[in-house]
Amino acid sequence: MQSKSNKIFDPIPYGRQNISDEDIEAVNSVLRSDYLTQGPEIEKFEEAFAEYVDASYAVAVSNGTAALHLCALALGVHSNSKVITTPITFSASANCIRYCGGEVDFADIDPETTLIDIDLVREKLKTAPKGTYDGIVPVDFAGRPVNLEALRQLADEYDLWIIEDACHAPGGYFVDSKGKKQFCGNGNYADLAIFSFHPVKHIAAGEGGMITTNDEVLYQKLLKLRTHGIIKNSKEYSNDLNMAIGKSNGLETESNEYPGWYMEMQDLGYNYRLTDFQAALGRSQLGKADEGIRRRREIASCYAEAFAGKEYIRHQAGVVEGHAYHLYVIEVENRLGLYNALRENNIYAQIHYIPVHLMPYYQQFGWEKGDFPRAEAYYSGCISLPMFPTLTDEEQEFVIECIDNFYG
Ligand SMILES: *Cc1c(COP(=O)(O)O)cnc(C)c1O
Repeated sequence: MQSKSNKIFDPIPYGRQNISDEDIEAVNSVLRSDYLTQGPEIEKFEEAFAEYVDASYAVAVSNGTAALHLCALALGVHSNSKVITTPITFSASANCIRYCGGEVDFADIDPETTLIDIDLVREKLKTAPKGTYDGIVPVDFAGRPVNLEALRQLADEYDLWIIEDACHAPGGYFVDSKGKKQFCGNGNYADLAIFSFHPVKHIAAGEGGMITTNDEVLYQKLLKLRTHGIIKNSKEYSNDLNMAIGKSNGLETESNEYPGWYMEMQDLGYNYRLTDFQAALGRSQLGKADEGIRRRREIASCYAEAFAGKEYIRHQAGVVEGHAYHLYVIEVENRLGLYNALRENNIYAQIHYIPVHLMPYYQQFGWEKGDFPRAEAYYSGCISLPMFPTLTDEEQEFVIECIDNFYG
């Protein structure tokens, strides 16, 4: 059953990047310069991003998954670590703990916010022997910020660290108990926060990621781990000058400077660098981020209004202050039918997410259907509708019309 006006539209995806001539010029100018990787654009992007989210430090890395991995390493996750996250997220939020050999546990979601339920985290911590858990990875799922003030209070009681997975929420904020806006990734409550610059995310760089923090010690660790664990700054060398020059201990050196070739690999790091041209694209995109969020919020209110009171809607994201609307999720009856009907009309909705604990990889640890009933109930009806700044009013009306027709 095709709706009447579909022929005038190109396929409508659930998310799409928006690359301008300005973005292209920013990339081109780096390609004509001396640096292709780890040049001046990296620091400029880091500074601009830290300022955007209101954090002290930012470290650009090759993607959001690498950002999560470096956070877990910097916080010392190891084979006896146990960490709590939400089942409704992209699996990378959990995988970063497995990369370091740690164990992943989950706390079910609050069905209203679809975010990790802090009360359930509290119950879990209360009933486990002291010292069972090391940290929590909350996710600002769909762009809705977790109340990190409340989560921090709980984490402090149990001496836990927090990695905020803010991939969906650059520019999002929650309002704290004093009425102040707390921007996602600002480092006031989480030890570390991470972002992704995959093309479906708010800021596209092809691939790319960012870690933000207010902790200088963690910041220095991250810089080292991003580039093989190598240090090139003589103030931080642990070997003495004789060793560096290649003389036996006790012999006099000809100068009191380390030779130009010298560097030290102090930790087992990785190559998780971002290229300079991706950083330039990211920084150029960042300049349009506020305008993008404004448009996303407009699209969200339009959906919220259109679906208000509709009996086929079990739950919808709605209008929430500070929501960054990476996704607009509705929960419906006959989700598969709707998904297919939209496809027939060239509308490519998406499902976010199959609960992580039900992935075959995680089932091997004993997780099974029924473990997190709220996450599973959410999954049975959720569908992410087209949500990106260049979605036109006409396209959005067409999406709404197709949904109405399907249930009508
Ligand atoms: C996209 C995403 C990631 C991973 O980011 P990549 O840049 O694709 O590696 C992690 N967590 C969440 C919630 C994401 O949406």
